[in-house]
Amino acid sequence: MKNGLNKIVKNFFPYGCHIYREPSLPVEEIKKDLKIIKKLGFNMVKIQQSWAIDEKIKGEIDISKVEEIIKEAEVLNLYVFFGFTMEQVPAWVWKKYPSAYLVYNDSTQHRDPTQYLLPTDGKPGPCWDNPGVRKEAERFLKEVVKRLSKYTNIIAWNVWQEIGFWPMYPGKLGFCYCNYTLNKFRRWLKNKYGSLKKLNEIWKTGYGNWDEIEPPRFHSYVPSWIDWKYYMNNVYLPEVLRFKYKAIKESDKYERPIFAHVSSPYTGSGQDWKFSENLDFYASSAYPGWVIR
Ligand SMILES: [Zn+2]
Repeated sequence: MKNGLNKIVKNFFPYGCHIYREPSLPVEEIKKDLKIIKKLGFNMVKIQQSWAIDEKIKGEIDISKVEEIIKEAEVLNLYVFFGFTMEQVPAWVWKKYPSAYLVYNDSTQHRDPTQYLLPTDGKPGPCWDNPGVRKEAERFLKEVVKRLSKYTNIIAWNVWQEIGFWPMYPGKLGFCYCNYTLNKFRRWLKNKYGSLKKLNEIWKTGYGNWDEIEPPRFHSYVPSWIDWKYYMNNVYLPEVLRFKYKAIKESDKYERPIFAHVSSPYTGSGQDWKFSENLDFYASSAYPGWVIR
């Protein structure tokens, strides 16, 4: 584990429960629950913040609620697993960057600015290739971590509550067909194939210019689909983890471990390895009585 966990705690097996996310109980109730949690033998609690809740107006970041919970946990010697929900984007961000929505194959945007954490933690969120929304997210992450880094009972940062593009409207080919992503995909193809001749051979196509290349937009039964899906799942998503990881690592003086988790492992795919390469450790939700694949 390439991180500063040992600076904070040694010989520790975290065992805890989720104590805060919006909509939440009043802080006073949470404080009472923390005492019960401690008494029952747990040693950690999970806090899950939401970007839309904590920065309602650009630049006015208010994390007083989570700070109060972290402080109380510290008094009780409870550790904190701190999760970010960056996919729940503030209204002002959508307004300022209208091209930040993820785009489907038919050029329609996935527009769901609903500010309610459940049931999907704000997913699928924005297209992180949009430079505007990316910049705002980096700034927010850095600022929040700087403010919270003094609390030594925080043991880990989580950068994505169940990595993925879901949910999507049914019958679509998935994300993201915005110009930012398509241009990055074309650059990746250029690097992979080196020449258009080679790409045309593999894809069985007749492109005359890199700028003309398009991923499938109607059905998936074509060679280009393989590169397109590989790119979104194994290049785009890991790169998102990387930018969040970097923003946090730079801002935490204790360099605590940074991780993310999936809803369940991608059995039969290399995706989990690609995700984990960009994190200090990697995890999965587990719903033994709910979801079995
Ligand atoms: Zn995009």
